[in-house]
Amino acid sequence: MKAVRHRYIYSRPLNTLFMSDTEPMIPIVCETCGTETRVPLSTLEESLRKHNSSRHDGEAVAEVAPEVADELASMVAEDLGLLDE
Ligand SMILES: [Zn+2]
Repeated sequence: MKAVRHRYIYSRPLNTLFMSDTEPMIPIVCETCGTETRVPLSTLEESLRKHNSSRHDGEAVAEVAPEVADELASMVAEDLGLLDE
């Protein structure tokens, strides 16, 4: 379930993972709309929800750009020590 996975990731304190003074801008892509938008991490989940609810009847069409989502997932995995043998 992608939605569950995303919710799990975004519940993590990602700002510490990025180690930046500035708020990371996360790219959101929507293939259906043909759009790519960068939004602050703090409003990421809200932006996704608003877009999908207003444009796609609540379906999870717009998502974090795949390459970023994968990176976030691996970073979170490292943070949790899941990659340690
Ligand atoms: Zn869309």
